[in-house]
This record gives sequence, C-alpha cells and structure tokens, in this order.
Amino acid sequence: MENAPRVLLMNPIEEGQDYVVDVDPVVSRHTGGKTKIGVFYPLGMTYVAAVLREHDIPVEILDPIPDGYTFESALAHAEGFDVIIMALAASNAGGAYRFFSPLKDKTRIFMGTHATALDVRILEEDYCDIIIRGEPELTALEAIRNLNNLADVEGVSFKNGSEVVRNPDRPLNRNLDDLPLPARDLVDNSKYHIVSFPGRPTAMVLTSRGCPFSCTYCATHLFYKHRRNVRSPEAVVNEVEHVVKTYGISNFFFADDTFNIGEKRVVEICDLLQERKLPIQWLCLGRVDTMTEPMIRAMARAGCKEILYGIESASPDVQEQTKKNITREQMTNTVSLTLKAGIRVSAFFMFGNPGDTLESIRETSALARTLNPTFASFNISTPDPGTELYESVKDRVTGNTFEKFDRLNTDISICDIPAEQLRKELVKAYLLFYFRPSFWFSLLRFISSDLLNAPTILKVFYRQAMNVLK
Ligand code: SF4
Repeated sequence: MENAPRVLLMNPIEEGQDYVVDVDPVVSRHTGGKTKIGVFYPLGMTYVAAVLREHDIPVEILDPIPDGYTFESALAHAEGFDVIIMALAASNAGGAYRFFSPLKDKTRIFMGTHATALDVRILEEDYCDIIIRGEPELTALEAIRNLNNLADVEGVSFKNGSEVVRNPDRPLNRNLDDLPLPARDLVDNSKYHIVSFPGRPTAMVLTSRGCPFSCTYCATHLFYKHRRNVRSPEAVVNEVEHVVKTYGISNFFFADDTFNIGEKRVVEICDLLQERKLPIQWLCLGRVDTMTEPMIRAMARAGCKEILYGIESASPDVQEQTKKNITREQMTNTVSLTLKAGIRVSAFFMFGNPGDTLESIRETSALARTLNPTFASFNISTPDPGTELYESVKDRVTGNTFEKFDRLNTDISICDIPAEQLRKELVKAYLLFYFRPSFWFSLLRFISSDLLNAPTILKVFYRQAMNVLK
C-alpha cells in the first residue's frame, strides 16, 4: 500500500505501576491483576499484524509489560507512529484511556470485547477515534486503508463530528485457513508463560474461533454470534510444527473457547500431532459435557498435559440461570476420566452469580474438594460488558467498577451476598482446597515429573497464593 500509515499494535499499560516479568501468577493479564509476573501470548495482535503486513502496511507490536516499558516510555515510543491500535479489556480500560489522552494527533483505535460492547459510550467520551468491533483482522485492514473515509468499512464505529457512526457488522471470517500465520517474529516469544508450564515459554495457537454455547457470563458470542468456525487439522498442526522449528518452543496452549467439540476433528488433530512426532506438551479449555473417551485418549497420546474445565457451580439453579447447564454426573465422570488418562485438571468455580446463596457457594466449595481436580480456581462472577449477565445487572455497574473486574476482587455484588463476604468465602474456599493432603500429593507428583523446574514451580505456587491472599 502506497503512503501507508505506520501502525503500532499494543497492549495497554497503566501509569505508575511497576511490573516484574518473571513467571505467571494466577492473576494473569486477562484478569487485570496489578502484579503481573508473566503474561499471556498476544495472539490477537500477532494475527492483526500478519494481515496488515501481508498488505504492505508497516506494523510493529509493543507489549509494554514483557517488553519492559513504563507508561512514559511506551508513550514516547507511540509518538513515532501514525495509527495506534490497542486491545482493550474491562480491567485495563482506565489505563488505556489515560494512555490515549495525550495522543490526539494520532489515529487512536481500540479493538477487543470491551470496546465492541461499549463502542458508542467510549467514542462519545472521546477516548479514541475508531473502534474495531468483533473479529479484528479484516476490519483493521479495511479501516487502515480507508482512514479518511470509513463510511463503507464494515465492523467499525467512529466519530463523525460530534455524532457516533456505527457501521453494520462485518460477516464472520469463515475461512480461517486463509489467514496468514500470526506474526510471531514481531514479539519476544521467550517472554510468554502460563502457570500450567511454569517458567517455560508457551505459545498460543487457535484451532477454532467461537463457541455454540450460551453461558450468560461469557462474551464470546459478541464476536462469533454463537457460531464456531474451525481450522483444518493440517493447518493447525503445520502451525505447531512451524513454531517448534522456528522458535524452539515446545509448550502450547490451544486457546480455543472450547477445544473439545467434535470428536472426529479433535482426534484428527491429535493423531496428526502424534504422527509428526513433535516434542510438545499442551493444554486447552474444555467442557465436561462434550468430552468423550476416544477424545481424551487421543489427547493424552498427543501430549495434552492439562485441561481447564469451567465447572462453575454445584447449584442446579445457578447452572440453569447461567445457562452453563452441566450436571453433577458430567462433572464427576469427565474429571475422573481426564485424571485417569494422566492429564491434569484445572477446574474453575464461580461465586456470586444471580441465584447464589451462602449455602450454594459453600456447596460449590465442597464440590471442588469432592471432584478433587489437580488445581481449583475460585472466581467472583463478573458481569463483563457484552455478556447477557451484564445486560441483566448493568444498572449496578457504574463509575470505575470495571477496574475492579479481576475476578478476585469486586466492589459490586450481583447476588444477595455482599461483595465483602463473597471475597471472604473465596479465600476460605482456596484455603480449604489447597490445605489438603491430596493437593500436596498432586503438587509433589507435578514437581517430580519436572524435577529440574522444581524451584520455578514452587515460586509460581507461592506467588499464586500471595495473589489470592493479599
Ligand atoms: S463460557 Fe465457555 S462454554 Fe460457555 S459460552 Fe463461553 S466459551 Fe462457550
């Protein structure tokens, strides 16, 4: 593209916060914790960068925390670009707005779920110039090509004088195999870790986008409208092989909203991974009601070491109200099937959904101990903008509440239990789960499977505990 603007894709950074980048705590970027000791792979930005670069638009990625920038030095860096595209989340919105404030001579663009959900409000407040709604790659490309005339660019909202213009949505990209590979060369791949593989660089790969389910607290549908688009197993495995060979990375996170949908495809991906004899270990997010025995066996053979399951609640009433709709039998069977296959289970539980009572929360805490997954994560239900849950309680979400949306702390409660008590119950659930002999036995097994890494594993667990108890 001739006379193309110089584009900077970046993650937000907050003013006055010092970060140490080491290994990942439980509070990672997406939950917006203040102490970030490691960060998730910026896969979304690398996809957008790859598409822009493919069309000769000069682009860089700045990930201020792992790249060691302060608010001020990131701002100075951003001065060298014409367009800045920032990925916005509820918990970092305040910092992102403050960052964009002195950059009014640039084209300031937000993308991401939070920006998609609150586009009109964010533009009316003049926090940016353009918002890319939904799946970002093709919309970003068209917006950059047409910065002076956005009228026909699908999927953008923008300011025209004092009026906010909201163009029609862009249809979903159904041909994910046509996207270029993420521009991983634009980030320092060694800096990205997740808690499941402590201290080891971990790459994210997407095998699909979207989820057909309708959990009320989840904003995935805002982008993907309850559809799930998949990549071919060959394309997925080619990308994994490319990352192994180019960057020497052997730890992967298949970061699909739900990986284990469709037995045939999952088994095909796993068989291909096995055929290529790639020296990898990986984890994914799964649902307990879509897992099958052939799937779990294929996943174990292909190097799957951990599955993250959203269990959420012991209460059938909360299961129904949140539309998660999984049964006690499905939870028990799948957790046990997974553990028997030699795969660790991280189970996620939520406190404080509408319908929750002190009794149901304590039952959920007890359920965690009964299921006995390898790890348990307890979170306070958070009405993120764009979710059905947010729509039902949005009159209670005011002011700077979003900055507290880190799932461990909240100053609003959306059930009948006060926020302070929710927090106390959460800490109690952590203590009850982790101060049990069976957890220490699991931890010992984890450490003995990776003895050389033992100090790092212990450091990660210590930091996780501190984050919860602080
Ligand atoms: S929470 Fe998981 S299963 Fe539910 S809609 Fe979101 S991605 Fe799908």
